[in-house]
Formats: sequence, C-alpha cells, structure tokens
Amino acid sequence: MNILPAAILAASIATAASPAAGPAGSDRAPLPPEQVWHGASEKLVVKPGDPWITPSEKTGLTATPDYAETRAWLERLAAASPLIRIETFGRTPQGRDMIVVIASRDGSALDPAKPVLLVQAGIHAGEIDGKDAGLMLLRDIALRGKADLLDKVNFLFVPIFNIDGHERTSPYNRPNQRGPVSQGWRTTAQNINLNRDYMKADAPEMQAMLGLINRYDPALYMDLHVSDGLDFQYDITFGFQDAPYAQSPAANRWLEQLYRPKADAALKAAGHVPGPLVLAVDDRRPEDGLFLPRFAANFSHGYGDLRHMPSILGSGPINRIPLASGM
Ligand SMILES: [Zn+2]
Repeated sequence: MNILPAAILAASIATAASPAAGPAGSDRAPLPPEQVWHGASEKLVVKPGDPWITPSEKTGLTATPDYAETRAWLERLAAASPLIRIETFGRTPQGRDMIVVIASRDGSALDPAKPVLLVQAGIHAGEIDGKDAGLMLLRDIALRGKADLLDKVNFLFVPIFNIDGHERTSPYNRPNQRGPVSQGWRTTAQNINLNRDYMKADAPEMQAMLGLINRYDPALYMDLHVSDGLDFQYDITFGFQDAPYAQSPAANRWLEQLYRPKADAALKAAGHVPGPLVLAVDDRRPEDGLFLPRFAANFSHGYGDLRHMPSILGSGPINRIPLASGM
C-alpha cells in the first residue's frame, strides 16, 4: 500500500475521533476548540431584566435580531434620548429603508467643527457582531453615562449595510463561523458583494452609502466584519491600506502611529489580543503564513485610502464578546 493513502486514512480516522470534529450525527462543520475567554468587555453586557437590554444580549449573545427588531429597538432608543436620531438614506432592491443612527449633541445641524466618525456593520450580513456591539454602545452613550464620547465627535452608525442579505438567514449560511445561531447572506439580493463594489457602485445600497459619505464627509470610516475560516490567536484584527501601497500617506501615518497604538492599548487593557488585518497566503496551507496585500479601491478601506478618507477594516471578535468600549 502506498504510504500516502495510508497516512491520509490515519489522519482521517484521528480527525473523526478528535473532539474538534462535529458531534456524532451533527451536520455542523468541525471547528477548532472554542477558546474560553474572560475580560473587562464582559462588563459591557447588561443583565437579563434590564429595560435596555439589546435583543442579542437577551439571548446571551447567541442570536442576532432581524432588521425589523433592530430598527424598532433603535427607534425606542431615539425616542428616549435627545442624543440619538435616525435618518433613512436609501432603499434596498427588496424595498427596505436603509437607516443611519446619528449620535450627537448638536441636534439636526451637526457642528461642522466636529469630525464625523462613520461606522458600518453588516456589509457582509452574516458577519454581524458589529451591529450588536453598536446597539450596546449607543445605549451606553444615550442612557448609561458615556455621552462624553460625543463631546468632540459626531458618531454615525449604520447598523446593517446589506439589509436584504441580512434577512436571508439560515443556520447553514456560514458553517465555518461560530455564531450567531442563524446567519445572514454575504451578498445582496442582486448577488452583489458590497465590499467589491466601491468603485463601480452597481448596487443601490452602495450608491446610497456613497451619498451618505458625500453628505457627512467622515474624518474616519470603519467597516466591521467577522473573520471566519481562519484560526489564529488574535481575537480581533483591524487594519488599513498598508504604508507601501497607501495613496494617502498622511492618513496612513495617523492610522499607524496614532490610532493603532491607542486602539491596541485599549483592547489589551480589556483583555483582548488585537492583531493586524491579515489574510492567509494560501487558505489550504497555513504553514505558508499570513500577509497583507495591497487592497484595490473596490474594497472599503482601499476606496477610503484613494479618497483620502482614513478608513479601517475591522474583523472579529471571534467569540462574540462585544468590543463597544475598545473600538
Ligand atoms: Zn467580511
């Protein structure tokens, strides 16, 4: 017998018997063992019975609310706080309003002297932890003593960018990702991947987002994802166009020399293991290592770099502990 098939067979038997494989009879993909994690970010999660518990907290962060429940919760928050209001800025191909939450001390006329931070979640709708963390952060700003975060900045939050994809849920959409229990779909109802559409802007959702960017001219733009299918020690990663490729070198220096050290320090103080945005050289050969390529302007942070708008792509956390204070 050839040694190669024997080795593959032995490895297959070992893998099938290992606890990392799916439970017997399970149709779930085998995932690496879950890392137990405890840290300061857990204190951001409110207890059951709290009147302002978010829909995801209600489920122990195992599920995520649909568009209607997300919007209803945010509208209740806006009705309870003068710091929060909601605008619609577009409509999806399936007819859903695109909403942006505006957190500000300036009312409807934002102070032009204050920079705007624009954060979006759910560009890939199955990667939705940023939405659930954003709801928690908005609650804490509006009602729980964190309003001073708005002293020098206006915070704009798009809870779901790809709304139609967000509503196309299944427990089997992302088998190589840990949670939520039912996940949205990567592309839009027109099968467009929004994070490849920044330059051509085929999608009505992208045209609406570019309109929002033009209207509010963010000083910092953040695009929140979740890493699936790549297992490393970092529990959150974030990055931007790397210096050798940057079309906006001054913005790159600000991100690398000022933003990253402060964000890393805040995350580490909360017990996290932040790392750079990285991709595998070859998804099937982890021994080849990780790297950060040049990102073309069809990606959010490549587009931001080209437009001289400091732009960050964040990914994680792998264990769904929200990072509302850190990021
Ligand atoms: Zn993504």
